[in-house]
Amino acid sequence: MGLLDDACAGRLTDEMKIVAEAEGKTPEFILRGIAAGRIVIPRSPYRYTKPVGIGKGLATKVNASIGTSSDIVDVEMEVAKARMAEASGADTLMELSTGGDFMEIRRRVVEATTLSVGSVPLYQAFIEAIRKYGAGVDMPEDDLFRATEEQARAGTNFMAIHTGINSICVERLRRQGGRFGGVCSRGGAFMIGWMLHNGKENPLYKDFDYLLEILKEHEVTLSLGNGLRAGAVHDATDRAQIQELIINAELADKAQAAGVQTIVEGPGHIPIDEIEANVKIMKRMTNERPFYMLGPLVTDIAPGYDHIVAAVGASLSSAYGADFICYVTPAEHLALPNVEDVRQGAITARIAAHIGDMIKNQDRKQDLAMGRARRDMQWETQFQLAVDPETARQVRASRSPIDAHVCTMCGDSCAMKIIKENIDLAR
Ligand code: SF4
Repeated sequence: MGLLDDACAGRLTDEMKIVAEAEGKTPEFILRGIAAGRIVIPRSPYRYTKPVGIGKGLATKVNASIGTSSDIVDVEMEVAKARMAEASGADTLMELSTGGDFMEIRRRVVEATTLSVGSVPLYQAFIEAIRKYGAGVDMPEDDLFRATEEQARAGTNFMAIHTGINSICVERLRRQGGRFGGVCSRGGAFMIGWMLHNGKENPLYKDFDYLLEILKEHEVTLSLGNGLRAGAVHDATDRAQIQELIINAELADKAQAAGVQTIVEGPGHIPIDEIEANVKIMKRMTNERPFYMLGPLVTDIAPGYDHIVAAVGASLSSAYGADFICYVTPAEHLALPNVEDVRQGAITARIAAHIGDMIKNQDRKQDLAMGRARRDMQWETQFQLAVDPETARQVRASRSPIDAHVCTMCGDSCAMKIIKENIDLAR
């Protein structure tokens, strides 16, 4: 029995009660949201994870992705990144290693965190095929399902699975006349290569019912991957991307009917004026399934600052209704993130999620409290209300004012102090 079965049968579980308490909702609100497919709580029968609710009416959640590459395999660094992501307030973690011993790295990461952990089984299947047969395109179909089951047993709570790229999508991509920035999804690129080389349908699409059986048995939440997402803002919202979304919307209905909790993933590079349409079309087409936006990056010209670029896109996405955003680190497009990149990525994405929630959920209590603390020059309260108290404390301490009420930005000319000495504006 999975959580979706419980919700459909009207059974309240501990996870639903914990999420309700954290979100300031009633347990029945959470139960109804799960039963309708609007909310998920990723769970694993193989390990304890801190319950986190993702979906309509809840605070926007932040995912931090970590993992090795073929060039850098440092398991201790991945464990440190997992711990840093959790300490920095990420709500979930995706372990996306493409180098080293996949199962050992996942075991160490899963042990190091209480967060829900996500994965992409296609990476493992494809790279193991390169190791075994010399080419990923020689991957036997069954390896995709074997990797899915293996990762589920390792305690993975949710999986990004590239089921939506079928032969119609690939044909649509070809017929639309190419792209400026190609395809930026690794899983999407792997699968397109396999399909074209073998002249076959995507096994994850063809045997979707079998995939659902595995996910249901191990209670994995399905995150329908956006494998055709564009790698450049110029290509956003094109026919191929929308085609895959249509397929994913149909698959989301099948997954729901099979008792598998489901999230739908959105694109990663979108100009600002197309974000609202992307969120609303996705929500409309999928009957309000939880929407997972990857960034999105709203310009392509700021490598080194892509965490900020993605925060702009994530703020708007969240404001328009996205439920879940994947962080982007300053290392995006340049290198494998290190521990400090993970910290900056997670905190920046949390700020973006909050900015969105101020609009989407009218969540403004913390901002109101900060406004009052600034007006009254209550520095300790300001630190406690800050998204990153440690950094705020360090910056102030590094340039201390002569008058402890103010800061060295304005010193004697502190507007807050001048007003407080002359008029009572307290509200
Ligand atoms: S010194 Fe300037 S920046 Fe600092 S608290 Fe006063 S008004 Fe704000």
